[in-house]
Amino acid sequence: MRKRTIADLRDDELAGKRVVVRVDYNVPIEDGRITDDTRITSTLPTLDALLQRGASLVLLAHFGRPKGKPVPEMSLRPVAAHLAGLLEGRTVRFVEDTVGREAQGAASMLRPGDVIVLENTRFLPGEEKNDSALAEQMASLGDVYVNDAFGAAHRAHSSTAGIATVMRAQGKPAVAGLLMDRELQYLGRALAEPARPFVAILGGSKISGKIDVIRSLLPKTDRLLIGGAMANTFFRAMGLATGTSLVEDDRVEMARELLAQAGDKLVIPVDAVVAPRMEAGAPTQTVVREAIPADQSVLDVGPRTVEEFRRVLSTAGTVLWNGPMGVSEIAEFAAGTRGVAEAVAEATGRGATTIIGGGDSAAAVAEMGLESRMSHVSTGGGASLEFLEGRDLPGVSALSEAA
Ligand code: ADP
Ligand code: MG
Repeated sequence: MRKRTIADLRDDELAGKRVVVRVDYNVPIEDGRITDDTRITSTLPTLDALLQRGASLVLLAHFGRPKGKPVPEMSLRPVAAHLAGLLEGRTVRFVEDTVGREAQGAASMLRPGDVIVLENTRFLPGEEKNDSALAEQMASLGDVYVNDAFGAAHRAHSSTAGIATVMRAQGKPAVAGLLMDRELQYLGRALAEPARPFVAILGGSKISGKIDVIRSLLPKTDRLLIGGAMANTFFRAMGLATGTSLVEDDRVEMARELLAQAGDKLVIPVDAVVAPRMEAGAPTQTVVREAIPADQSVLDVGPRTVEEFRRVLSTAGTVLWNGPMGVSEIAEFAAGTRGVAEAVAEATGRGATTIIGGGDSAAAVAEMGLESRMSHVSTGGGASLEFLEGRDLPGVSALSEAA
C-alpha cells in the first residue's frame, strides 16, 4: 500500500502551516566535524519543497544513544549549524529544547520559510518507549507531520510512530517525505515486482543478523550470491576447512539446510583471500576454497569468485546488495568488494535497477566513488534489513495511505 507523500498534500494544507518533519540526522561526527553529511543532504528535496510551498519547519531528530537523558556531546547543535549552511537564504535556528516551553514558544513564532531544529529526541525518556503523552506534545508543535527518517522507521518511537498516530487522530495529515517515499519505492518494487533476473548479494560479518533476510529473499530472487564472513559458515556446512576464519558454529546446521533447499540458486565463493591476521600490512594469499590454511582466516572473496559473480550480474534486471564481500575497511581485503561494486555499477549502466542497503556497504560504495552509478543507495541500514525481512516498519505503518 502506497503511503501519502508531501506531493499529495494540497496547497492549503501547507501554505502558512507549521510542519513537523522527522529526519534522520544521525551522522558520523569526528572531533566535532561531520565526516559524511549524506543523511542531511538527502532530506533537502523534502525541506525545499515544503519551504517553497509556504510552510515553516520544525525538525525532530535523534542523535546517538543518550538513553533518555541529556548528554551534551550528543546535542544536535552542530548538525543544525551544518544544515543552516546547506539551506542558504533561510533562517535556521537551533533550539535547546525538544517539547518544553522553549520549543513550543519557538515553534509558535515561526513565519513561512523559517526552520527550527529541536534538541535530540532521545534526550527524553519517553521517546524510545513510544510514550503517548510525549507524542502528543510533539504533535502540538505543528499542523502537519512529515516522516523523512527512513533510517529510524523500524523503531516505534514517539517521534516516528507515536506522533503520526496522534496527528491522524486529530484529523491532521501524517505523510511520507520524498526520501522516505524513494526508499519505499525502490525497496518495495524490488521485492514486489523485480525486473528479472533478480540477483541478491549478501555479505558482511554475520549470518545470524541476516538469516531472516536470506530466508525472505530466497524465494523471491533468481540467484543469491554470498560473500563476507557469512560465506565461511557455508564453507563449514559444505565440509570445508575454514582455518581461523570467523564462523558461526551454531548456524552451520542452518546453512546446510539452506544449501540443500536452495540448490544452485545460492552461489558460494569458489576462492578466498586469506591472511594470518585481520590487519593492514598482513601477508595475503589467494586460495581455492578447498585449500584454506589451518592457521589463516578468510578475509575477502578471491578473483575467481568476483568473475563468477560478475557473470551472474551481467544479465541481472534487478540487483539488491547488502554487506561487503570482505573486510573492505582494510585495503588488502577490499578487492572483492570493489570488484563486485564495479560489476553492480556496470549493471546499472545496462539498465538494471541496482539497490545498495546496509551501512557498511553504502560506506564502501561511497568510498569507491561509485554512489552515483547505483540506482539507489539506501540511507537506512537496520531499517532496510527489516524491510527486506518482510517486517512491518512502525514509522511507515503509522502514516496515512495514499488515496
Ligand atoms: P552492512 O552494514 O552493509 O549491513 P555488515 O555490518 O553486516 O554490513 O558487515 C560489515 C562488516 O563485515 C565489516 O566490518 C567487515 O569488516 C566485516 N566482514 C566482511 N567480511 C568479513 C570476513 N571475511 N571476516 C571478518 N569480517 C568480515
Ligand atoms: Mg554494518
